Order: sequence, then structure tokens, then C-alpha cells
Amino acid sequence: MPGTLSFEDLKSRVSDGTIDTVLVCFVDMQGRLMGKRFHAVNFVETSFKETHCCNYLLATDLEMATPDGYASTSWQSGYGDYVMAPDLNTIRLVPWLEGTALVLCDVLDHHTHEAVPHSPRAILKKQVKRLEAMGYEAKMATELEFFLFEKSLADIRKSGFRDLEPISGYNEDYHIFQTTKEEGVMRPIRNHLYAAGLPIENSKGEAESGQEELNIRYSPALNCADYHSIAKHAIKEIAWQNGHAATFLPKWHKDRVGSSSHVHQSLWKDGEAAFFDGDAKHGKSELMSHYMAGLIKYAPDYTYFLAPYVNSYKRFAKGTFAPTKTVWSVDNRTAGFRLCGEGTKGVRVECRIGGSDLNPYLAQAVMIAAGIKGIEDQLDLSPATTGDIYEDAKAADIPQTLRAATETLRNSQFLREVMGDDVVDHYTRAAEWEQEEFDRAVTDWEIARGFERA
Ligand code: ADP
Repeated sequence: MPGTLSFEDLKSRVSDGTIDTVLVCFVDMQGRLMGKRFHAVNFVETSFKETHCCNYLLATDLEMATPDGYASTSWQSGYGDYVMAPDLNTIRLVPWLEGTALVLCDVLDHHTHEAVPHSPRAILKKQVKRLEAMGYEAKMATELEFFLFEKSLADIRKSGFRDLEPISGYNEDYHIFQTTKEEGVMRPIRNHLYAAGLPIENSKGEAESGQEELNIRYSPALNCADYHSIAKHAIKEIAWQNGHAATFLPKWHKDRVGSSSHVHQSLWKDGEAAFFDGDAKHGKSELMSHYMAGLIKYAPDYTYFLAPYVNSYKRFAKGTFAPTKTVWSVDNRTAGFRLCGEGTKGVRVECRIGGSDLNPYLAQAVMIAAGIKGIEDQLDLSPATTGDIYEDAKAADIPQTLRAATETLRNSQFLREVMGDDVVDHYTRAAEWEQEEFDRAVTDWEIARGFERA
């Protein structure tokens, strides 16, 4: 792929002066790039081995608070360091910033140099390894939906997030004329990311004013998550460079459709599509049936990892293409899981539950784990559903609120087995904290409703 650099390539670009800055980053619980901007000479001479960061970065929230209740770190333990170990296979250009490259890091314990178990990249690597031990490779694609706004982030912040005018005036689903007007932002997003080594497929208008989707070609799960995090970061930066704002908040207005991140999944064995069986109905192999049965059975357990904030649950409204039912269908967008690529080697399952705010490492890890469980336990897949599944009272629901998803996470024997108690307890605390913070807030809605009339 053009844009990815070997360590030797990087060194030569540093010595000829074309690269002067290396962004040394890891992905936090919220899916953000966190780290430091290194002078490139320092990076290639010494810091490529490791650097350090405060360990609160994997026990914080969107506001960078220091909540209590985490076993891994606290004020009592003095908020020590983690090691950031650059994964030199992830060095790439950052073409939208001058003279800049980027590398992703694994997060290690400062003393033992073991992977920090609740680090999102470590969580995904663990499930990928389990799958490898069974002889399979997961190939995944996470769609990125987001909204572009007319004004800049700074202006929107100054308006108290009230002056929210999307970049377009009408539903632009698949719309070529409207998306032409947005090419000032979207073309550099596609081209810079491609030049950074991401296999960009396309962008398209989505089903709301100002809503966009970016598609990246499916790839091994860890690459897919790395691509998603880098692309999300780039979309925000490139929109900002052009004086606009991009948001991945799943639901920014009660009357507007929300933003999702659908996750396409398939398993491969020795380079062959293991989900494909040309003689079977839909081309769906037994293996795929068991994987899907696991995905469906354990969806309530892992919903938190698809919808991690209070706002995430506002997206789940009837008739908006945001499904909440733990059933599957063939090419029907109202079910939580959709079989795509019917009868072809591209046969795959798409999970449509996740919001644009999901962390791709965590979302993929828990779904791979659920699929493995389905295979191990040879779970039976119920028949496909049809029609408008929003109206199907018999179809089971995922948890409808963050509070409910926190309880299914806390009580999930399955997730405790496959992720470890320490990891489940860590993310349960993150979920509780999010709810506690929301419960402390007094919202605009409450004031407008009750100020005069209560
Ligand atoms: P749609 O029309 O729903 O957008 P696409 O054909 O564009 O469907 O595919 C959506 C995503 O699925 C793309 O990112 C694509 O790379 C990915 N994809 C295609 N084949 C597979 C597969 N076998 N496994 C996982 N993802 C796949």
C-alpha cells in the first residue's frame, strides 16, 4: 500500500528532511488517538523503542476526568506511567499535515512490559489470537458515518453548540450533486487517507442533511480497527482544516437520523472464505451459521461496546435504520444483523447495531468472541426474519439504555470468561461513570419543559 513506511523508509525520509515530525499514538477507551508529537530525529534514534504516558489515559472519559473506582489506577496509587511501545508495522505518512508521519503503539505495563489488559488494542489482539489458534482469520470492515457542519468547531463551541447548521439542506443519500458541493472536504479525506496507506473504497452522501459515509476495504481485524481510528481522526482534522466541523456523536438532533458504524465480518481459512458454502442456502456455511448464532445470542451482553454513551441509545428509534432487534435477515436493513453478499464468496454478516461512537477495537473484539463462542458451542441459528422487524413483537431487543447495557455487561458470564474479570470490571466502571455524570447534569430539555410550568 502506498503511504505505509518501513522503519528504514522513515529513517531515510527523516535524513533527507521530508519528515520532521512523528505522531506517536495509542488508541484510548473512547477510540481517540492519544500521544506525543516527536521530533522525527529523536524518534528514529531512540524513542522508536518506547515512550511513556500517564496511566490515567486508560481510565478517563471524554472530558479527561479522573473518576474513582478503577482497580488499575487511582489517586491512591499515584497515577503512574504506562509504556507506549510503537508497532513499527503501523508507520505511515500523514499527508494532510506537513512533514508528518504517524505510528500506533501498544500500551504496556511500566514494570513488567506485559500488555495492559484493558487497552483496546490488546483486547482485540487477544480475540484475534484465539481465532488464529482455531485456524481462522477475521476480515472486517467498519463503516464510518458522520455529519459535516457549515461552521467551524470553534464557532460552534462559542455558540454553546446551538448554532448547528449541517453543510447541506436536504437528505443526500447517494446524492451526486449535493456531495459535489462537499468535495472541498471529502476529496481530501479520501485522497489523504489513501496516500496514508488506507484502502479507501468510496464516500457517499447518507440519509440526512450533511450526513456522510466513508467506506474502507475489508481487512484483517487489527488493520481494520487501526484504519477506522486513523480515518475518524483524519475526518475531524481535515474538516477542521477546511473551516468546518465533523461530528461522530450518534444523535445530534432529536428529529435527525443518527450516525452508525456497521461492522461487516467474515472468517477465512488458508486464504479461502470460510463463511462460503456454494451448496448451502444463501451460500452460508455451517461455520457462518454458528458464528452468527453466537453474535445474536450474546448481543445484549456486548451492547455497551457498540453503544458506550447515554447519547448512543438516542439513535435507536423506529423507522430510522438503527435496529435494536437481535435477529438476522437477508438484505433487510431493519434487523440487527444482515447477511450480505448472498451466494457469493463475499458472503458476510453485517452488525447494524453499533453507533458512530463505537470504539472499533472493542466492538470487533467482543463480536469475534461471541462468534467463537457460537462456533465452540455449535449454536443453532434461528431462521431468517423478514418484513419490518421494528414491528415484530417476538424479536428480542438489545438493552435500550446505557443503564440496562451496563447491567448486562456487569453480569455477563460469557464476557468475563473471554475478556477476564479485570477488563469487564474496568469497562463496567467506565459505563457507570458515564451514567453518573449524566445523572448529575441538568439538561436544556428539563429547563425548557419545567422552568415556567412545573
Ligand atoms: P453496501 O452496499 O452495503 O455499502 P458494500 O459492498 O459497499 O456494501 O460493502 C460494505 C463493506 O463491506 C465494505 O467496506 C467492504 O469492503 C466490506 N466487505 C466486502 N466483502 C467483505 C467480506 N467478505 N468480509 C468483510 N467485509 C466485507
